[in-house]
Amino acid sequence: MRLKTKQKAIFPKLNKARTHDKPIEHIDAPAIMVYPMSMHIGAPAKPIVEVGSTVKVGTLIGEAQGFISANIYSSVSGEVILIEDREIISGVVTCLIVKNDGQYTEEPPFPEAGKDVAPELVPELIRRAGIAGMGGATFPTDVKMRPAEDKKIDTIILNGAECEPYSTSDFRMMLEYADEIIEGVRVIDGVFNVDKIYIGIEDDAKEAGERLREVASDFDKIEIKVLEAKYPQGSEKQLIEYCTGRQVPSGGLPADVGCVVSNVGTFQAIYRAVRLGKPLVERVTTITGTPIVDPKNLLVRIGTPIDDLIDICGGFQEAPRKVIHGGPMMGRTIRDGSVPISKGTTHITFLTASEVDDEERMDCIRCSECLNVCPVSLQPILISNAYERGDIEKAEHLGAMDCIECGNCSFICPSKIPLLDNIRKAKTAIKQNAKAV
Ligand code: SF4
Ligand code: SF4
Repeated sequence: MRLKTKQKAIFPKLNKARTHDKPIEHIDAPAIMVYPMSMHIGAPAKPIVEVGSTVKVGTLIGEAQGFISANIYSSVSGEVILIEDREIISGVVTCLIVKNDGQYTEEPPFPEAGKDVAPELVPELIRRAGIAGMGGATFPTDVKMRPAEDKKIDTIILNGAECEPYSTSDFRMMLEYADEIIEGVRVIDGVFNVDKIYIGIEDDAKEAGERLREVASDFDKIEIKVLEAKYPQGSEKQLIEYCTGRQVPSGGLPADVGCVVSNVGTFQAIYRAVRLGKPLVERVTTITGTPIVDPKNLLVRIGTPIDDLIDICGGFQEAPRKVIHGGPMMGRTIRDGSVPISKGTTHITFLTASEVDDEERMDCIRCSECLNVCPVSLQPILISNAYERGDIEKAEHLGAMDCIECGNCSFICPSKIPLLDNIRKAKTAIKQNAKAV
C-alpha cells in the first residue's frame, strides 16, 4: 500500500504575530535544572552520574541505550542533587536534578571535531552530541545518517515549514543562524554527496528564505521551495512529496525514497557538533500565547523548567487555562511547571479559558469531515472506534501507524471526539503488541 498524500489541509489561525519580529534573546539558566533521560524517540538514556557528582556544561550525564536512543548532557555546571522518576509530557521518566553553580564551566570540545572531519565520522559525532530531531519529532538524527546499505540518498530536505500555530523559533533561527544552518547542510552533503538540496519554507516566512539563499549563494544544489502556509505543511512525508514528487511507502522511511529530512535547528546542531565539537545543550524556543505579557523567542539551556521562563516573558496578564508543549494542533498538555525545555521543545503555548475548547464530546454525526482533512487519507473515526472497542488489530489494519499525528481530524470534528488522542494510544498499543511477539 502506498500513502495517498492529497493536498488535504486546514488553515488554523496562526497567531505568530506577537513573536514573528522578536530577535532571539539569550538568557541565563535558573538555579535548578531538570534533565529527563528521555527527550527523544527510542530507549531512554541511562544515568551515568550519581547524586553528589560534579558536572560541567557538556558533561555526559545520560548514555544512549541501543540503536535508537540519544545521549544527554548537562547544560550547566554544578552538582547533581537528586535522581528521581517524574511525570514529564509523555509519561514517567527518570530525571536528574542539577544545582546550577552559575559558573558555566565547560568540558573541552570533542577532539575529533573540526574543519576536516572524515565523512564516515560524521554520524558518530552526531550520535555523541545527542542530537534528536529538533522540530519536535525527536527521532535520533544519527540513525537517519546511517541508512541501510541498499538505500542511496540523493536528496537532502531542510524542513523550515513551521506550520504549527504560535511557533516562530524556526523562522528566527533561519534569519539569525542561517550561516550555521547552511554549514550543517554542507556537513551532511559531505556524507551523501547528494544531487539536490531543498529548503522548504512557508510563504509567510519569505525573509528567512531570502537570508538562506544569500548565505548559500555559492551552493548550486540548493533550491528554496516556498510553500503555501497551511497545516500540516511541515510534515515530513508531505514535504518530500512536494519537493521531489516521491511518495514514502506505508510504514516506510524517507530513506526508502532517497531522502534525508531534518528540521533547520537540527542542521545547526549538526554544525556545532561536527565543526565545533559541542554537544546539544541548548535550543531556541518560543514562549507565547495570549496570557503572556511579553512573548519571546529565547535561546534556552535544555533542562530549564518552564516556570522559570514565565517571569522572563513579563508574567501573565490573564490566568492561563491550558499550557501546551508545542502548539494546539500536535502539542501535549503540560500539567506541571517544573517540566523542562527539552530537545524537541519548539514552543510553549499558554491559552486563556476562552481559547480552550472545553465543549463536551458528542456522538459522531457521520459528517466525514475527519476523512476529508486527513493528509494521509486515513479514516480517523474508524481507527478511533476500533481503539475504543479494544480492537487493536483492526486499528492497525486501518493504517493507524501511517498517522502523522497532525491533529487535523480532532481540530475539525464538530462532535469533539478525541480522535488524535485515541489514534496515538492505538499506535502505542500496536507497538507494544509488536514487541510482545
Ligand atoms: S492526526 Fe492522523 S488520522 Fe488525524 S488527520 Fe492527522 S494524519 Fe489523519
Ligand atoms: S468529524 Fe467527527 S463527527 Fe464527523 S465523521 Fe469524523 S468523528 Fe464523526
